[in-house]
Amino acid sequence: MKSSRNNNVKLRMKKKRRRLGLIVATVYLMIFLIGELTSDPEESIHQVATSVAEQSIIQDTIQPEKQKRPDGKPMGKVVYLTFDDGPSILTNQFLDVLKEQDVKAIFFMQGSNLQKTNLQKNVKRATKEGHYVGAHSMTHIYKNLYDNGQFVPEMNETLSLIQDITGTNPKLVRPPYGSAPGLESEQIRNQIVGAGIKIWDWTIDSNDWVLKDNPNQIVENVKKGTKHEVEVVLMHEKSQTLQALPEIIAFYREKGYEFGVYNDADHFSLNFYQDKYL
Ligand SMILES: [Zn+2]
Repeated sequence: MKSSRNNNVKLRMKKKRRRLGLIVATVYLMIFLIGELTSDPEESIHQVATSVAEQSIIQDTIQPEKQKRPDGKPMGKVVYLTFDDGPSILTNQFLDVLKEQDVKAIFFMQGSNLQKTNLQKNVKRATKEGHYVGAHSMTHIYKNLYDNGQFVPEMNETLSLIQDITGTNPKLVRPPYGSAPGLESEQIRNQIVGAGIKIWDWTIDSNDWVLKDNPNQIVENVKKGTKHEVEVVLMHEKSQTLQALPEIIAFYREKGYEFGVYNDADHFSLNFYQDKYL
């Protein structure tokens, strides 16, 4: 009897505790839900943004912005390797060598080649692996570009083709045959500036395109041409250039050059007219 009464009491207390537990849990749930409903989503976004901003400030202090020369060029010894006239059936192999050597480059690609769907995979690969893909006109025909005023329209078309293929938004172009004498008229140069297009010629002509089966001469031309701390080397997607490339890279490494990675924000002018607006 005693034990059964005790059992009854225990059972009642157990029920009470269970009810109390349920009430406590409900209250907690309500507090949580009210908190969720009243919390300002903008406030939490703001908090995230603030912490991201704080983080980048920390990173900025660790990595100070790269110093530049008065003319906008980077400090130190920097070489930019550039390859014109692609994409081609060799693009993939150029990318393999560059990857193997851990070097970034600039490809100035031609619209009529960019339209070939079988070559587009490697255009994407180039940007994905950190190379810059800029424009080199649609037709590469001197008369069209410089006599018939098609320079800007052709470059715009090529740039938007690159954007369609890669998702990047490049502004840098290389004038076929160089900017001189084609872009001599101030009118066409104003048109280029107005279109937000930037132009790069080169400081070293490797003359690779005429040196079929003679990669050693390409290497020699590059070595002989190297005189400044900042160099931009003109090359093409040719098989002799592909053969010469490892030695060219080794030469610049030995001379203490860094391989420049072009980005639009750090553009510096490099054209045969010394036009600082291009
Ligand atoms: Zn070309």
